[in-house]
Amino acid sequence: MRQALQQEEFVLHYQPIVDIHSGRLLAAEALVRWQHPERGLLGPDQFIGLAERSGLIVELGDWVLNTACQQLVAWQTAGLADLCVSVNLSPVQFRRGDLDQQVQAALTRSGLAPAALELELTESLLLQDSEKFISLLMRVKALGVSLAIDDFGTGYSNLAYLQRFQVDKLKIDKSFVCKLQGDQQAQAIVMAIIQMAKSLHLRTTAEGIEDDATRQLLAGMGCDQAQGYWFARPLPAADFADYAQRLLASVQSSTSEPLYNAPNTASP
Ligand code: C2E
Ligand code: MG
Ligand code: MG
Repeated sequence: MRQALQQEEFVLHYQPIVDIHSGRLLAAEALVRWQHPERGLLGPDQFIGLAERSGLIVELGDWVLNTACQQLVAWQTAGLADLCVSVNLSPVQFRRGDLDQQVQAALTRSGLAPAALELELTESLLLQDSEKFISLLMRVKALGVSLAIDDFGTGYSNLAYLQRFQVDKLKIDKSFVCKLQGDQQAQAIVMAIIQMAKSLHLRTTAEGIEDDATRQLLAGMGCDQAQGYWFARPLPAADFADYAQRLLASVQSSTSEPLYNAPNTASP
Protein backbone atom coordinates (compact mmCIF):
# COMPACT_ATOMS: atom_id res chain seq x y z
CA MET A 1 0.00 0.00 0.00
CA ARG A 2 2.96 2.27 0.74
CA GLN A 3 4.13 1.58 -2.80
CA ALA A 4 0.65 2.34 -4.13
CA LEU A 5 0.84 5.77 -2.51
CA GLN A 6 4.20 6.46 -4.12
CA GLN A 7 2.95 5.23 -7.48
CA GLU A 8 -0.08 7.48 -7.23
CA GLU A 9 -2.65 4.71 -7.38
CA PHE A 10 -5.06 6.52 -5.03
CA VAL A 11 -7.68 8.84 -6.46
CA LEU A 12 -10.36 11.04 -4.97
CA HIS A 13 -13.95 10.98 -6.08
CA TYR A 14 -16.25 13.81 -5.07
CA GLN A 15 -19.90 13.60 -4.06
CA PRO A 16 -22.09 16.72 -4.18
CA ILE A 17 -23.72 18.10 -1.04
CA VAL A 18 -26.65 20.35 -1.91
CA ASP A 19 -29.18 22.60 -0.21
CA ILE A 20 -32.07 20.22 0.46
CA HIS A 21 -34.68 22.85 -0.46
CA SER A 22 -33.21 24.70 -3.47
CA GLY A 23 -30.84 22.08 -4.83
CA ARG A 24 -28.00 24.63 -4.85
CA LEU A 25 -24.57 23.01 -4.79
CA LEU A 26 -22.78 23.73 -1.52
CA ALA A 27 -19.88 21.33 -1.18
CA ALA A 28 -18.04 18.27 -2.40
CA GLU A 29 -17.16 15.40 -0.08
CA ALA A 30 -13.80 13.88 -1.02
CA LEU A 31 -13.97 10.06 -0.94
CA VAL A 32 -10.81 8.08 -1.54
CA ARG A 33 -10.50 5.11 -3.94
CA TRP A 34 -7.59 2.84 -4.81
CA GLN A 35 -7.03 2.22 -8.51
CA HIS A 36 -5.47 -1.20 -7.97
CA PRO A 37 -3.47 -2.46 -10.99
CA GLU A 38 -4.97 -5.97 -10.73
CA ARG A 39 -8.10 -5.69 -8.62
CA GLY A 40 -9.57 -2.57 -10.26
CA LEU A 41 -11.12 0.37 -8.45
CA LEU A 42 -11.39 -0.39 -4.71
CA GLY A 43 -13.69 1.47 -2.31
CA PRO A 44 -12.45 2.77 1.06
CA ASP A 45 -14.14 -0.02 3.00
CA GLN A 46 -11.66 -2.40 1.32
CA PHE A 47 -8.49 -0.63 2.47
CA ILE A 48 -9.03 2.09 5.12
CA GLY A 49 -8.99 -0.51 7.92
CA LEU A 50 -5.64 -1.84 6.74
CA ALA A 51 -4.28 1.68 6.33
CA GLU A 52 -5.35 2.44 9.92
CA ARG A 53 -3.80 -0.71 11.35
CA SER A 54 -0.50 -0.14 9.53
CA GLY A 55 -0.38 3.57 10.35
CA LEU A 56 -0.24 4.46 6.65
CA ILE A 57 -3.52 6.34 7.08
CA VAL A 58 -1.48 9.29 8.38
CA GLU A 59 0.34 9.61 5.03
CA LEU A 60 -2.73 8.69 2.98
CA GLY A 61 -4.88 11.12 4.96
CA ASP A 62 -2.34 13.86 4.38
CA TRP A 63 -2.40 13.14 0.65
CA VAL A 64 -6.24 13.26 0.68
CA LEU A 65 -6.20 16.58 2.53
CA ASN A 66 -3.69 18.20 0.19
CA THR A 67 -5.30 16.84 -2.98
CA ALA A 68 -8.80 17.88 -1.94
CA CYS A 69 -7.69 21.41 -0.99
CA GLN A 70 -5.82 21.86 -4.28
CA GLN A 71 -8.79 20.54 -6.28
CA LEU A 72 -11.12 22.94 -4.51
CA VAL A 73 -8.94 25.94 -5.31
CA ALA A 74 -8.86 24.84 -8.97
CA TRP A 75 -12.68 24.64 -9.03
CA GLN A 76 -13.10 27.94 -7.22
CA THR A 77 -10.78 29.59 -9.75
CA ALA A 78 -12.79 28.00 -12.58
CA GLY A 79 -15.97 29.72 -11.38
CA LEU A 80 -17.36 27.64 -8.51
CA ALA A 81 -16.48 30.41 -6.11
CA ASP A 82 -18.62 29.40 -3.13
CA LEU A 83 -17.89 25.69 -3.21
CA CYS A 84 -16.61 24.04 0.00
CA VAL A 85 -14.89 20.69 0.48
CA SER A 86 -15.36 18.00 3.14
CA VAL A 87 -12.54 15.65 4.07
CA ASN A 88 -12.93 12.53 6.23
CA LEU A 89 -10.44 12.07 9.05
CA SER A 90 -9.52 8.81 10.74
CA PRO A 91 -9.14 8.76 14.55
CA VAL A 92 -5.60 7.46 13.90
CA GLN A 93 -4.69 10.80 12.30
CA PHE A 94 -5.28 12.42 15.69
CA ARG A 95 -2.91 10.13 17.55
CA ARG A 96 0.29 11.63 16.21
CA GLY A 97 -0.66 14.95 17.71
CA ASP A 98 0.31 17.22 14.81
CA LEU A 99 -2.90 17.14 12.78
CA ASP A 100 -3.29 20.91 13.19
CA GLN A 101 0.05 21.40 11.43
CA GLN A 102 -0.97 19.03 8.61
CA VAL A 103 -4.22 20.92 8.10
CA GLN A 104 -2.49 24.30 8.23
CA ALA A 105 0.14 23.09 5.72
CA ALA A 106 -2.56 21.87 3.29
CA LEU A 107 -4.33 25.24 3.54
CA THR A 108 -1.13 27.20 3.04
CA ARG A 109 0.12 25.07 0.13
CA SER A 110 -3.20 25.25 -1.71
CA GLY A 111 -4.22 28.77 -0.73
CA LEU A 112 -7.67 27.51 0.28
CA ALA A 113 -9.57 29.70 2.77
CA PRO A 114 -10.05 27.78 6.06
CA ALA A 115 -13.79 28.49 5.96
CA ALA A 116 -14.05 26.43 2.75
CA LEU A 117 -12.68 23.30 4.43
CA GLU A 118 -14.84 21.01 6.54
CA LEU A 119 -13.37 18.08 8.45
CA GLU A 120 -15.58 15.07 9.08
CA LEU A 121 -14.96 13.30 12.38
CA THR A 122 -16.47 10.11 13.71
CA GLU A 123 -18.62 10.05 16.82
CA SER A 124 -16.28 7.60 18.55
CA LEU A 125 -13.49 10.16 18.39
CA LEU A 126 -15.47 12.49 20.62
CA LEU A 127 -15.52 9.90 23.39
CA GLN A 128 -11.82 10.38 23.96
CA ASP A 129 -11.28 13.00 26.54
CA SER A 130 -7.56 13.08 27.13
CA GLU A 131 -6.13 16.55 27.54
CA LYS A 132 -3.85 15.92 24.57
CA PHE A 133 -6.78 15.14 22.29
CA ILE A 134 -8.90 18.04 23.54
CA SER A 135 -6.16 20.60 23.00
CA LEU A 136 -5.37 19.18 19.54
CA LEU A 137 -9.00 19.42 18.43
CA MET A 138 -9.18 22.96 19.83
CA ARG A 139 -6.09 23.90 17.79
CA VAL A 140 -7.58 22.37 14.63
CA LYS A 141 -10.82 24.27 15.15
CA ALA A 142 -8.89 27.49 15.81
CA LEU A 143 -7.53 27.33 12.23
CA GLY A 144 -10.98 28.45 11.11
CA VAL A 145 -12.14 25.19 9.51
CA SER A 146 -15.59 23.64 10.13
CA LEU A 147 -16.18 20.37 11.93
CA ALA A 148 -18.88 17.86 11.05
CA ILE A 149 -19.78 14.65 12.87
CA ASP A 150 -20.11 11.86 10.31
CA ASP A 151 -22.57 8.94 10.56
CA PHE A 152 -24.32 10.71 13.43
CA GLY A 153 -26.68 8.52 15.44
CA THR A 154 -24.78 5.26 15.04
CA GLY A 155 -22.36 5.57 17.94
CA TYR A 156 -22.73 6.97 21.39
CA SER A 157 -22.24 10.68 21.14
CA ASN A 158 -20.96 12.60 24.06
CA LEU A 159 -23.37 15.44 23.47
CA ALA A 160 -21.48 17.86 25.70
CA TYR A 161 -18.61 17.68 23.22
CA LEU A 162 -20.73 18.99 20.39
CA GLN A 163 -20.70 22.35 22.11
CA ARG A 164 -17.28 22.15 23.65
CA PHE A 165 -15.60 21.66 20.26
CA GLN A 166 -17.89 24.03 18.46
CA VAL A 167 -19.00 21.36 16.03
CA ASP A 168 -20.79 22.96 13.05
CA LYS A 169 -22.72 20.12 11.49
CA LEU A 170 -24.23 16.67 12.07
CA LYS A 171 -24.36 14.24 9.17
CA ILE A 172 -27.36 11.98 9.76
CA ASP A 173 -26.29 8.42 9.04
CA LYS A 174 -27.64 6.80 5.90
CA SER A 175 -28.89 3.76 7.84
CA PHE A 176 -31.73 5.98 9.17
CA VAL A 177 -32.21 7.90 5.93
CA CYS A 178 -32.56 4.88 3.64
CA LYS A 179 -35.47 3.39 5.61
CA LEU A 180 -37.12 6.66 6.57
CA GLN A 181 -40.31 6.22 4.58
CA GLY A 182 -42.77 4.08 6.47
CA ASP A 183 -40.46 3.51 9.45
CA GLN A 184 -41.85 5.40 12.43
CA GLN A 185 -38.83 4.70 14.60
CA ALA A 186 -36.32 5.94 12.03
CA GLN A 187 -38.48 9.05 11.58
CA ALA A 188 -38.55 9.67 15.33
CA ILE A 189 -34.75 9.37 15.57
CA VAL A 190 -34.11 11.66 12.60
CA MET A 191 -36.63 14.20 13.89
CA ALA A 192 -34.91 14.17 17.30
CA ILE A 193 -31.47 14.67 15.71
CA ILE A 194 -32.69 17.60 13.59
CA GLN A 195 -34.44 19.27 16.53
CA MET A 196 -31.44 18.84 18.80
CA ALA A 197 -29.17 20.22 16.09
CA LYS A 198 -31.42 23.25 15.68
CA SER A 199 -31.42 24.04 19.38
CA LEU A 200 -27.62 23.77 19.43
CA HIS A 201 -27.40 25.95 16.27
CA LEU A 202 -25.84 23.13 14.25
CA ARG A 203 -26.57 22.41 10.61
CA THR A 204 -27.69 18.95 9.46
CA THR A 205 -26.86 16.99 6.33
CA ALA A 206 -28.77 13.82 5.47
CA GLU A 207 -26.59 11.29 3.69
CA GLY A 208 -27.79 8.39 1.61
CA ILE A 209 -30.83 10.04 -0.02
CA GLU A 210 -31.80 7.77 -2.91
CA ASP A 211 -35.19 9.18 -3.97
CA ASP A 212 -37.09 12.45 -4.08
CA ALA A 213 -39.77 11.33 -1.60
CA THR A 214 -37.08 10.93 1.06
CA ARG A 215 -35.61 14.33 0.17
CA GLN A 216 -39.03 15.93 0.58
CA LEU A 217 -39.66 14.16 3.88
CA LEU A 218 -36.32 15.38 5.27
CA ALA A 219 -36.85 18.89 3.93
CA GLY A 220 -40.20 18.95 5.75
CA MET A 221 -38.48 17.85 8.96
CA GLY A 222 -36.18 20.87 8.72
CA CYS A 223 -32.98 19.19 7.55
CA ASP A 224 -30.64 21.66 5.79
CA GLN A 225 -28.44 19.75 3.38
CA ALA A 226 -28.63 16.62 1.28
CA GLN A 227 -26.25 14.06 -0.14
CA GLY A 228 -26.95 10.78 -1.89
CA TYR A 229 -27.31 8.82 -5.10
CA TRP A 230 -30.53 10.71 -5.93
CA PHE A 231 -28.35 13.75 -6.65
CA ALA A 232 -25.17 12.01 -7.77
CA ARG A 233 -22.82 9.22 -6.83
CA PRO A 234 -19.26 10.09 -5.88
CA LEU A 235 -17.78 11.27 -9.19
CA PRO A 236 -14.25 11.49 -10.63
CA ALA A 237 -13.05 15.13 -10.47
CA ALA A 238 -13.75 15.89 -14.16
CA ASP A 239 -17.29 14.49 -13.94
CA PHE A 240 -17.93 16.44 -10.73
CA ALA A 241 -16.93 19.65 -12.52
CA ASP A 242 -19.37 18.86 -15.38
CA TYR A 243 -22.12 18.09 -12.88
CA ALA A 244 -21.45 21.33 -10.99
CA GLN A 245 -21.51 23.44 -14.16
CA ARG A 246 -24.78 21.89 -15.34
CA LEU A 247 -26.36 22.31 -11.91
CA LEU A 248 -25.27 25.93 -11.85
CA ALA A 249 -26.76 26.53 -15.31
CA SER A 250 -30.05 24.82 -14.43
CA VAL A 251 -30.48 26.71 -11.14
CA GLN A 252 -29.66 30.02 -12.86
CA SER A 253 -31.93 29.44 -15.85
CA SER A 254 -35.02 28.11 -14.10
CA THR A 255 -37.06 29.12 -11.12
CA SER A 256 -38.73 25.73 -10.92
CA GLU A 257 -37.16 22.32 -10.39
CA PRO A 258 -33.39 22.19 -10.04
CA LEU A 259 -31.47 19.49 -11.85
CA TYR A 260 -31.73 16.60 -9.46
CA ASN A 261 -30.56 13.16 -10.32
CA ALA A 262 -27.92 13.81 -12.97
CA PRO A 263 -26.56 10.74 -14.80
CA ASN A 264 -24.27 8.84 -12.47
CA THR A 265 -20.78 7.65 -13.21
CA ALA A 266 -19.90 4.33 -11.61
CA SER A 267 -18.03 4.61 -8.36
CA PRO A 268 -17.74 1.91 -5.72
P1 C2E B 1 -18.87 8.45 4.67
O1 C2E B 1 -17.89 9.52 4.96
O2 C2E B 1 -20.07 8.35 5.53
O3 C2E B 1 -19.23 8.62 3.14
C1 C2E B 1 -20.47 8.38 2.60
C2 C2E B 1 -20.52 7.01 1.97
O4 C2E B 1 -21.86 6.76 1.58
C3 C2E B 1 -19.68 6.90 0.70
O5 C2E B 1 -19.20 5.57 0.60
C4 C2E B 1 -20.73 7.14 -0.39
O6 C2E B 1 -20.40 6.57 -1.63
C5 C2E B 1 -21.93 6.45 0.22
N1 C2E B 1 -23.18 6.98 -0.30
C6 C2E B 1 -23.43 8.24 -0.69
N2 C2E B 1 -24.71 8.39 -1.09
C7 C2E B 1 -25.30 7.18 -0.94
C8 C2E B 1 -26.62 6.69 -1.19
O7 C2E B 1 -27.51 7.40 -1.64
N3 C2E B 1 -26.86 5.38 -0.89
C9 C2E B 1 -25.89 4.57 -0.39
N4 C2E B 1 -26.22 3.31 -0.12
N5 C2E B 1 -24.63 5.00 -0.15
C10 C2E B 1 -24.33 6.29 -0.42
P2 C2E B 1 -17.68 5.28 0.28
O8 C2E B 1 -17.16 6.25 -0.71
O9 C2E B 1 -17.60 3.82 0.00
O10 C2E B 1 -16.96 5.61 1.64
C11 C2E B 1 -17.18 4.80 2.79
C12 C2E B 1 -16.53 5.40 3.99
O11 C2E B 1 -15.10 5.38 3.88
C13 C2E B 1 -16.87 6.89 4.18
O12 C2E B 1 -18.12 7.01 4.74
C14 C2E B 1 -15.75 7.31 5.09
O13 C2E B 1 -16.03 6.98 6.43
C15 C2E B 1 -14.59 6.44 4.62
N6 C2E B 1 -13.69 7.26 3.80
C16 C2E B 1 -13.81 7.64 2.50
N7 C2E B 1 -12.77 8.42 2.12
C17 C2E B 1 -11.97 8.55 3.22
C18 C2E B 1 -10.75 9.24 3.49
O14 C2E B 1 -10.18 9.94 2.64
N8 C2E B 1 -10.23 9.13 4.75
C19 C2E B 1 -10.85 8.39 5.73
N9 C2E B 1 -10.27 8.32 6.94
N10 C2E B 1 -11.99 7.74 5.52
C20 C2E B 1 -12.56 7.82 4.28
MG1 MG C 1 -17.96 11.39 5.39
MG1 MG D 1 -21.25 9.17 6.64
